[in-house]
Amino acid sequence: KGLIVAVDGHSSTGKSTVSKILAARLGYTYIDTGAMYRIVTLRAMRDGLIRDGKVDDEGVKRVLPSIVFGFKYNDEKKRYESYMNGEYVEKAIRGLDVSDNVSLVASLPYVRELLVEKQREMASAGGVIMDGRDIGSVVFPNAEVKFFMTASPEVRARRRYEELKGKGEQVTYEEVEANVRKRDYIDEHRETAPLVRVPDAVLIDNSDMTVEEEVEEMIKLIRS
Ligand code: C5P
Repeated sequence: KGLIVAVDGHSSTGKSTVSKILAARLGYTYIDTGAMYRIVTLRAMRDGLIRDGKVDDEGVKRVLPSIVFGFKYNDEKKRYESYMNGEYVEKAIRGLDVSDNVSLVASLPYVRELLVEKQREMASAGGVIMDGRDIGSVVFPNAEVKFFMTASPEVRARRRYEELKGKGEQVTYEEVEANVRKRDYIDEHRETAPLVRVPDAVLIDNSDMTVEEEVEEMIKLIRS
């Protein structure tokens, strides 16, 4: 039975990039918990439950049980894909509109409760790399290996901006940096499961690191 590796940290630190590489190298399953919060957000937005930065609490509570989360690795396209009730939503959940509202939805305690339960089920067989904000603190406080990834807000915004531009999104660097800072603030200050570095998490600041250097360091720690 494989280990549980928790990868937490700030937005746009490249958690998913390194987590996917680690999973492939170790033969582990990659679980993207952020995608689950993004799917709930997409549902809420489509149902008109988010207006002017406010969430219709009762509305979200009502639709939540009807959301079916689907994740699979597409072998042909060599990519991870997210589905909502069978619909391919990978592209829809990564846009700036969902990114702008996701921290709001992720601060709802009943949303977190349900998703944490699902995440524990998904990892019950072990051998997983789970990427998120509260994996080492809440979902798996006993995870064998924990990482906390960070980088300066400017470095993170720059990377995210390049990524979105590459996908053809119409955004400015300033909008992206504002989004990165806003998500940090909400994630760190929410009442339920705020983003914190637990003492037993290994801190990785990748502001001046290449992905390869980072992966090597993490693999070494996982195997030790
Ligand atoms: O990882 P990603 O940036 O896709 O996550 C999107 C958002 O979902 C985060 O900004 C955070 O607000 C929320 N999140 C969370 N707990 C997790 C994963 C994501 O609150 N475990």
